[in-house]
Amino acid sequence: KAKEGGRNDYCFFTPDMQSQFNRSLQLENALRFAIERNQLHLVYQPQYSLHQQQLTGFEALLRWQHPELGFISPAEFIPLAEQAGMMQSIGEWVLISAIQQQKLWHQAGFNSLVMAINLSPIQFKQTDLLDIIQAHLQLARLDPSSIELEITESAMVEDAEQAIKTIQAMRQLGMRVAIDDFGTGYSSLSYLKRFKLNKLKIDQSFVRDLLTDKDDLAIVTAIIRMAQSLGLKTIAEGVETAEHQQLLATLGCDDIQGYHYGRPMLAESATDFLQQHLTPQAIP
Ligand code: C2E
Ligand code: MG
Ligand code: MG
Ligand code: MG
Repeated sequence: KAKEGGRNDYCFFTPDMQSQFNRSLQLENALRFAIERNQLHLVYQPQYSLHQQQLTGFEALLRWQHPELGFISPAEFIPLAEQAGMMQSIGEWVLISAIQQQKLWHQAGFNSLVMAINLSPIQFKQTDLLDIIQAHLQLARLDPSSIELEITESAMVEDAEQAIKTIQAMRQLGMRVAIDDFGTGYSSLSYLKRFKLNKLKIDQSFVRDLLTDKDDLAIVTAIIRMAQSLGLKTIAEGVETAEHQQLLATLGCDDIQGYHYGRPMLAESATDFLQQHLTPQAIP
């Protein structure tokens, strides 16, 4: 604690900060080898349409399992990867893996399935991002409209004009674009009409107490109404109970994602889930 040392002691690191710093360094070093040592994998969380009452797709979520350090949350290691200049290569690994899985599911006849893939703001700013995505889609011979890119508001605030162009290019290639964690960032609402988006993902922080907190209810209601008038779809994140789902359906929310409908699953379990919830199209 800096205070205890008196005014002439310059102590920048508390013990807490020191151990936090050490862990970050340790994780950063370990993360450099995570791809080549096969420590990364994706899990897939189902998304459900309230109107069609059926599974519509999955969100790919990154997992890191280290032999000694154990499971490390993406909420912890993705910021580190971004700071350490590793997010482009990790992001490309995610893109390749999610596209491959999506190809397998489409080949099995699940043609309507959409795969949502998270993009870091670092990737969003990458000038060759679209070339890379397009190359992987072509290699897999996968329809771009079966891919939905999830972008956070923070990726768009820095250079809104460039962001508008990037999103337009994504749409021109046929991909879908969703704003992730909507409502938690600082993007100006006036840009919403200029970004050619498909969907707003209502952040789970507004969904959690939806049944008891009238402010959250007001916010979620307003987001859904605004999206409807702008011609955008909505999906609510973090839907944990049947009561949440029922209320969101009443409010006119299009889709939901959360533990109530399905947890993030390994590819094999997600395939089982898929086979139980959707009928494959006949393959010609
Ligand atoms: P996100 O994209 O907003 O993903 C939703 C997070 O909410 C996931 O956490 C998911 O497991 C969790 N979740 C889903 N349903 C529920 C629920 O009903 N209740 C609760 N409490 N949580 C639920 P996860 O997998 O730990 O990922 C955290 C964040 O890390 C993601 O938030 C995303 O921002 C980031 N992330 C994950 N994978 C990737 C990736 O491949 N690339 C990038 N750039 N970011 C990723
Ligand atoms: Mg997401
Ligand atoms: Mg989200
Ligand atoms: Mg979120």
